[in-house]
Amino acid sequence: MTARPRTAGVIGWPISHSLSPLIHRCWADRESADVVYLPLLVEPGAEALSRALSGLAAAGFAGVNVTLPHKEDALRLADAASESARSVGAANMLTFERARIFADNSDAEGFATAIRPLLANLKEARALVLGGGGAARAVAFALRGLSGQGVSKVSFAVANRTGAKAASVARDFGGETLAWDLRSDALGGFDILINATSLGMKGMPPLEIDLRRLPANAIVADIVYSPLETALLKAARARSLATLDGLGMLMHQAARAYVAWLGRSAPVDAALRAALEKALAERGA
Ligand code: NAP
Repeated sequence: MTARPRTAGVIGWPISHSLSPLIHRCWADRESADVVYLPLLVEPGAEALSRALSGLAAAGFAGVNVTLPHKEDALRLADAASESARSVGAANMLTFERARIFADNSDAEGFATAIRPLLANLKEARALVLGGGGAARAVAFALRGLSGQGVSKVSFAVANRTGAKAASVARDFGGETLAWDLRSDALGGFDILINATSLGMKGMPPLEIDLRRLPANAIVADIVYSPLETALLKAARARSLATLDGLGMLMHQAARAYVAWLGRSAPVDAALRAALEKALAERGA
């Protein structure tokens, strides 16, 4: 009898757009790993997610990534969770450990790993995070952890359309709040601008912001990756500002899952990026 391939997947609703199966396939092909990583369509709601998780664990899955709209329920349904998942209040990675489910959030680490090289020359950095959802919370968690790692101190403010959510991100991760309507006028006081809203994503309204006041050495990051070059990044490049697109975070968050469940090494390199850029281009994103 042949050995059973190691199996994992990604749960979402919808899920056909997910780039995670392609990312894991790229890594598995490189080391000829006998693995399967499936897109899994699970309807919204904790009950449906719970049923799916029981079935997948029983079927021998090593774990599953979780995307919208299940990230909060994923944390609630787990038996134990990492500090990042608990702090962010959402999980994107569930590992099946015998009869238990362990929840983790690798979005935060993914963002930190992607942005760290850009901070190398900064002594202190002040970031403006736009957003108040799970992604903004993951970014805020990451920024809090970046102090002392190459850059001596990172502080941040958060601005979100719904001010109460910005206030809760600021309170939970030690930042300040900025009124959403002041996001352009206040840019002179920031070294890093991060879009962690869904604005600018295909099918969503654009992010309206005027970058004129950002200092000339500022960094502009957008965690939206479809389209890859958002209007925000285009405007930043027109001003010759350093930029970071959403693929860095996406590739780095996937690496932890691949190594935990499927294979030995998950290099985030130019070849992987090229495969993802090709897939996005084929979709017209
Ligand atoms: P979410 O919880 O639904 O939050 C959406 C955010 O966008 C909220 O801050 C929301 O503001 C804001 N927003 C939506 N429509 C708006 C509008 N018309 N005007 C102003 N603000 C608006 O989603 P999420 O999980 O945080 O994800 C946000 C984005 O990050 C998505 O595009 C997702 O694909 C991306 N993401 C990327 C990665 C990666 O690896 N690159 C990882 C995770 C997420 P309100 O609070 O006021 O509604």
